[in-house]
Amino acid sequence: MRMTDTQMYARVLAGDASYNGRFFTGVLTTGIYCLPACKARKPKPGNVRFFPSCEAAREAGLRACKKCHPDDFARGADPVLETIESLVAEVRTAPVNFADARAIVRRSGFGSTRVFELFRQHYHTTPADLLLRARLDHAKRQLLDSDAPLSRIALEAGFEALSAFHENFRRLNGLTPAAYRALRAGGAFEIALPDGYLLPYLRRALSRDIHSVTERLEGDVYTSAVQLSTGPAMLTLRLSKQKSEAAGNPANLPEVHALVVGLLGLDEDAAAFTRLARKLGLARLVAGRPELRISQTPSVFDGLLWSIIGQQINFPFACLLKRRLVERVSAPMPGGLYAPPTPAAVAALEPADLLPLQFSRQKADYLITTARLITAGKLDLTALAGMSATRVERTLLAIRGLGPWSVNYLMMRSLGFPDCVPLGDTGVTSGLQALLKLEERPDMDATRRLMAMFSPYRSLATAHLWQFNQPIPT
Ligand SMILES: [Zn+2]
Repeated sequence: MRMTDTQMYARVLAGDASYNGRFFTGVLTTGIYCLPACKARKPKPGNVRFFPSCEAAREAGLRACKKCHPDDFARGADPVLETIESLVAEVRTAPVNFADARAIVRRSGFGSTRVFELFRQHYHTTPADLLLRARLDHAKRQLLDSDAPLSRIALEAGFEALSAFHENFRRLNGLTPAAYRALRAGGAFEIALPDGYLLPYLRRALSRDIHSVTERLEGDVYTSAVQLSTGPAMLTLRLSKQKSEAAGNPANLPEVHALVVGLLGLDEDAAAFTRLARKLGLARLVAGRPELRISQTPSVFDGLLWSIIGQQINFPFACLLKRRLVERVSAPMPGGLYAPPTPAAVAALEPADLLPLQFSRQKADYLITTARLITAGKLDLTALAGMSATRVERTLLAIRGLGPWSVNYLMMRSLGFPDCVPLGDTGVTSGLQALLKLEERPDMDATRRLMAMFSPYRSLATAHLWQFNQPIPT
């Protein structure tokens, strides 16, 4: 579908990055052509001409903008992003080489303000926080793979003080370093929950689909069939005010731990978002739930299935379709719960298998093609978590069937990126309307503009907006 000049100009005014590459904006007064999302001053409509490609703009005698680099974008190259990505790879491989955030800034070759802006845009975080997490991940690998004393592991990860190592480790993992190392022996583990942790909201998140065939919440016992790298397994989680308890065998207990940390949303910065909301004068958004977290899906593939199945249909119907898919491709495990579908099982289906289950032809097609991309090695779900948010977004948006809503949903619910907005989500727009007492529901551009104030915590803002009109769970 061809866009009109008016539509294209509206995308330019909105600074809509999702239109980068779809057309180029030539500014006749300056002789320069740009990407639609260029941050330079917006040209007047009378001075603008639109071009389908960089070549066309150059043929008209225009030069490429030095701010948004339209030629690099058109080539698929993004030198600034690539610089930041290789810097982050260095930090993650050897965090000990970076004494603090200033060392990251020095190494980048950019000015400090620019580095902060780039980390926020591409990794949804600050250099200091990324460094802290890189140190903890380094230490976790060493705890499992070596018998080195804790003090040496802390030092080699770049922690100067053992107390900072312990405190941060415990806060983001719910376990002491020694208890984490003990996961190698298998058995069960207990996770300490932060003060004020909102179990009622977790219970609500874990029992949203009351007819689920893969998970079940009875009282405070949550049972779920999960896919681990060692195959399907049963996870039992006992929830209580101070702790959460789970079990597994030695081969996969660290993996179970990572899954539980995700379910609990333990490594999300709930307190920082609450401070931001209060600073914005929007304390009512977080009232009664300052500790709200996003419960991550048990696997990225689960989130992917859900983000395709859930498109444009109501929640109960989406649950029904998901259940039918599970029953079609999986077998019940001891205890009666079904293991969640694997990419291979979905890839083996044909659309004709899903149509009788009430999947639309398009949805069936999207699900099966995406699963086949995974089994063919063209889409690596495990690699996504280590990529920059920008790279993840580009990778996923290139897949047919995944639009901005699905991609951002997946990034916030399955990959833990903290600064995502599932644009077009009715829960977000109705939440914003109620929160800000707007006369009408904000459209896509207004949503984007309004949500900007919550950056870099837009995922948690989304979670709070989803809850804003809901009764408080008991
Ligand atoms: Zn530009």
